[in-house]
Amino acid sequence: MSLTSNRSSTTLGAAIATGLGVAAVAFAGGWLLRGRKGSKLTSTTTIATTTASSPVSLVERKVVLAARPPKRIFLFDVDGTLTSAARKPTTPEMNAFLDELRSKALVGIVGGSDLVKQKEQLGEHFVSHMDYVFSENGLVAFKNGISLANQSIAAFLGETKLKAFIRFVLHYIADLDIPVKRGTFIEFRAGMLNISPIGRNCSQSERDDFGRYDLEHNIRPTMIEALKRQFPEYGLTYSIGGQISFDVFPNGWDKTYCLQYLAKDDVDEIHFFGDKTMKGGNDYEIFSHASVVGHSVTGPEDTIRQVNEVLAKPPRSS
Ligand SMILES: [Mg+2]
Repeated sequence: MSLTSNRSSTTLGAAIATGLGVAAVAFAGGWLLRGRKGSKLTSTTTIATTTASSPVSLVERKVVLAARPPKRIFLFDVDGTLTSAARKPTTPEMNAFLDELRSKALVGIVGGSDLVKQKEQLGEHFVSHMDYVFSENGLVAFKNGISLANQSIAAFLGETKLKAFIRFVLHYIADLDIPVKRGTFIEFRAGMLNISPIGRNCSQSERDDFGRYDLEHNIRPTMIEALKRQFPEYGLTYSIGGQISFDVFPNGWDKTYCLQYLAKDDVDEIHFFGDKTMKGGNDYEIFSHASVVGHSVTGPEDTIRQVNEVLAKPPRSS
């Protein structure tokens, strides 16, 4: 089930509605709120369908969203946190869970992938169903579906440095002796380069094989050390995520980059959930940031469990 179709038929829990003294509120977008005791969310929410779309419904939806604690956000990594693995889509249960969560707090994602890949995982229209969407660590940012900003690694480095860097990477990969090579060794994104020794066009089984091979032979860590030695003055950060690649971006353009947008909006209770929270992982910087409450998860089910633990406590602003 796609996110879109799922979102058109989701029942939301109603701690907020209860707070408003509202037993049942139906509103546009197909969402339906029902009075419900307690704040725990489940991943198997009852699905109800409404196709009503009226100005009144839209207003009611805004009322419900506006009644959430305004300074509390649940911010999620995507791969391995909302999905079972890199590039995999979220399940209908996870989509329903996120919908329901949005009636209780601000909800956002911050992932290293670009927006195209995030849409493949979360659904074509997910951007307009979240409070904040941060693609490429927030270098491409949206709030309530509206674009906030785009950053460019090309502008940061300049063409001369960028060409020297790409030339070195391609030579390095050409000389690498690994079991399998495919295509797309460098993916040029808005705010970063994604470099894959095997090539991003590999199949899922080749991806799995390379992940294991890399653990044993340290292909990616060794390549990163070579790049650091070659370009010490470029001001670049290297971050291993997923099975086959690593990201390269200017220092400070890691996932903490997105926090500036939350600070601007006075969101100060930030719960971040990620699976690569160890040093060197692509969630480490934001997970350990002073203004963030970090939660290290082992997968989607663990994410849901830990979110419910947080919901069991009152928000700071209450
Ligand atoms: Mg992850």
